[in-house]
Formats: sequence, C-alpha cells, structure tokens
Amino acid sequence: MTTKGSLQQHLLSQSADRALFERAADYALDYMESAYGRAVTPTADSLAALSIFDEPLSDDPCDPREIVGLLHFHGSPATLATTGGRYFGFVNGAAVPAAVAAGWIADAWDQNAGLYVMSPIAARLEAVCERWLVELFGLPEGTVMGLVSGTSTATLCGLAAGRNALLARAGWDVNKQGLFDAPKIRVVLGEQAHATVFKALALLGMGNERVQRVGVDAQGRMIASKMPQLDDKTLVITQAGNVNSGAFDPIDEICSKARAAGAWVHVDGAFGLWAAASEKKRHLTRGVQKADSWSVDAHKTLNAPYDCGIVLCADRQVLVAAMQATGSYIQYGEHGKRRDGMLTTLDMSRRARAVELWATLKALGKRGVEELVDGLCDRAAQFAEGLVVNGFTILNDVVFNQVLVACDTPEETKATLEQIQQSGECWCGGTVWDGKPAIRISVCSWATTEADVDRSVAAFTAVRGRK
Ligand SMILES: *Cc1c(COP(=O)(O)O)cnc(C)c1O
Repeated sequence: MTTKGSLQQHLLSQSADRALFERAADYALDYMESAYGRAVTPTADSLAALSIFDEPLSDDPCDPREIVGLLHFHGSPATLATTGGRYFGFVNGAAVPAAVAAGWIADAWDQNAGLYVMSPIAARLEAVCERWLVELFGLPEGTVMGLVSGTSTATLCGLAAGRNALLARAGWDVNKQGLFDAPKIRVVLGEQAHATVFKALALLGMGNERVQRVGVDAQGRMIASKMPQLDDKTLVITQAGNVNSGAFDPIDEICSKARAAGAWVHVDGAFGLWAAASEKKRHLTRGVQKADSWSVDAHKTLNAPYDCGIVLCADRQVLVAAMQATGSYIQYGEHGKRRDGMLTTLDMSRRARAVELWATLKALGKRGVEELVDGLCDRAAQFAEGLVVNGFTILNDVVFNQVLVACDTPEETKATLEQIQQSGECWCGGTVWDGKPAIRISVCSWATTEADVDRSVAAFTAVRGRK
C-alpha cells in the first residue's frame, strides 16, 4: 500500500472497495464448505505456520487485502472445525447459516446495543428475542432478558440479582452499603455445580468455599432430600444439564422447597435449559419456571454464533437494580418499546448480539429448535449405542447430548482419548468421572449427521489400544 495520502483517505477508499469484501466473503464461504469434510484438528504444519503472525507492529498501515489473505491462508487452517459434524469437545455449538449471514450485516452496522437511542433496531430485536425465549422456555410472563458474552457472565448477573434481592428484603442495600457487616447470605448448591458458578460467587464477595454443598447421585444430580433447611436468606443454585453427564437436578422439588422458604433459586441451564423447548425432553426441566433467575447460552445447544449468553430474571426491577448504572449523559428510553440493553447487563457498550440470536430463532422456528434439540440427543444416543456394541463402557445415563466413555482400564481410556484427539477424525475432550479418567462427548452441532457419528465410532474403535 502506498503511504501517500492521509489515513482517512485510505480508509474511505477501503470502505468502498467491494472487491475487498467480496474476497473476504469468498474466503469465508470456502472455509464454511471445507469445515464439513476436513480433518477436525489442525495439522502440526499449520500450527507451526502461525509464527507468521509473530511480528512487531509495523510502523506503516497494511493493505486490507493482505490482512484477509493472512487470515484465510494462515488462520483458517489453524482453526478447529467446530462448525463441522465431528467436533464433540466441551459443549461447543456450531452456527446456523442464517445467523452467520445475519452477523455479516450486523458487522457492517456496527451498532452499540447499550441504549435504545444508540440502536433502535438492536433494542427492538432484543425485545422480540426476550418474548420468544420466555415462551420457548415456559418462563413467567414479564421475565426480563440480558444479552451477555456467555453463561459465565449470565450467572454472575443472576447471582448478583439474587444476592441483592435477599439482602434488600432484610433491609440491606448492597449497592449503597456493600457487603461488609451485611446480614449473612447462605449459598446452597450441588457438589457438581459448574466451575463458573464458583467463579461468580468469588467475584460477588460470597466466597466459593463458604457454600453448603449438597450431595449428588451417580449422575451428578443434586439429591433434594439432602438439602439443608432453607430460609429467606438462602441463595440456591441448581443445574439444568451437568457439564459431564448432561443430567438435570430435580428442579421442581428444589424450587418448591425454596419457594416455601422464601429462598432465591438460580438455574444454571447453559446448554440444558433448551430441553424446555422440546416436547420429548421438557420433562427434564419440570418446575423450572418456579425459579427466580436463569442463565443459558445461545451459542451452545441453539447453535447461535459466539458470543451469546443470556441472563433471565422473573423480576425485572431486581435485575435492573443489580446492574444499575447512572451518569448524567445517559439517555434512557422508556421500558417496553424503548428498551435499553445496558439496564440488564454488566456492560454499557456492547455488540448487537440480538441480531444473530433473532436470526437463529427465526431461521429455526419453534419446530426447528425442537428438531435441533432432539437431533443432538438422538445422535448422542446413537454414539453411545455404537460404542457399547464395540466394547466401550458408557458411564452415564444418556438423557441429553452428553456421553461419558471409558475403556477397560484408566490407562487405556487416556491413551484412546489422546489418539482420538490426534486422529483428526473427530475431537472429544477428557474429564474425570467418579474418580477415573473418561472421554467426554458432547453432541452440540446441527451439522452432525448419523454418518458422522458412525464414522466417529469407527475412529474410536480404530485407535483403541494403539500406543
Ligand atoms: C458452558 C457452561 C458454562 C459456562 O458458559 P460460558 O458460555 O462458557 O461462559 C456454565 N455452566 C454450564 C453447565 C456450562 O455447560
């Protein structure tokens, strides 16, 4: 690129450079096509080639065509093919095509979704998504939504709301008075609560060790009868979807007890809350509407693009009060038609996540969401059956999209996992279940076909016992 002319002149001409954006689109489309068929993991060579990015920041500007080329030719090969059909790591969803396309438009808009006055379209789509989600999950009318980066943050928001509400009822204003000398809040959760719950508790000054851990059954579900006496200063955290086994706490029983005692219930439903959108799986989330707040990811089971976490709270005022922000220059809309996204989240400025969330929900429809959820569960069941037939042991009841696998010995399990991860045929993570190593399969991509599962089972069988 010539260095003549001002930066502004350069940027102006780049913004009108259709060929640049068409090239970027071509690269992206090539990538999407290749993701279904290619090896799931990058080769050692493509990882080594990443060193091209390790350079000092140059003094002069760089041609944007060179930039998209670098990303395509050196970045793309070093990705994991999580949008394909044979990636089963963590609980990572793929992305529904309509949402990827919508995201391109949203990128061009570059809206700030913090306030209605900054982006009426983002505010409107958020309001629509809120209505749709409340209906899909069967939550109480008036439940409010905040769009955040993921369930980690959504849980932080929900627990902040719960903590503040319990203390407010005891006559204590956390925003003003802080936590020193505040009445004591008790936290009750299952022994297998997700790591991000403990992180949120630590950040919120409630401590991640001064909690009462309730015993769990063989699937990792909280045993409701083992819960301590609850009261109106108790924060109960329950789980819709154990991150290893996929099991659901007995939410109905837990919520009933909590309600009777005046306790606050937060549901960590990162991937499992979507069961509520399926006729076949809804029973797993029975009673979930009786909770006070919920966290869930759209970027997991729903297959919306990253990053899209959702906090939901039955009492709008409580969440708004917890996320409070004031400033003389802030211009709030009125609630209802003029929704201000920053009122229900930690952030002020943030991207318009609602565009992709809305596109995903609209592209699928109620029936599509249900078919997506059921399909992930069916493929998980198929995976488990295929592995059993081939001599593997399934450690969990496969009630949702998660499958835990072991070989005959812990050593063989570990070696098999390592081989699977290196094979490029499919990718799974590892975990420890019941004190022993296990291979953890999460079927979370819309793209996973029955043939992908068969091919992955074959990969397991092929690498087993190999050193
Ligand atoms: C994934 C997950 C989280 C964390 O969600 P992020 O979107 O990664 O922040 C929390 N709880 C459970 C049960 C999860 O599966």
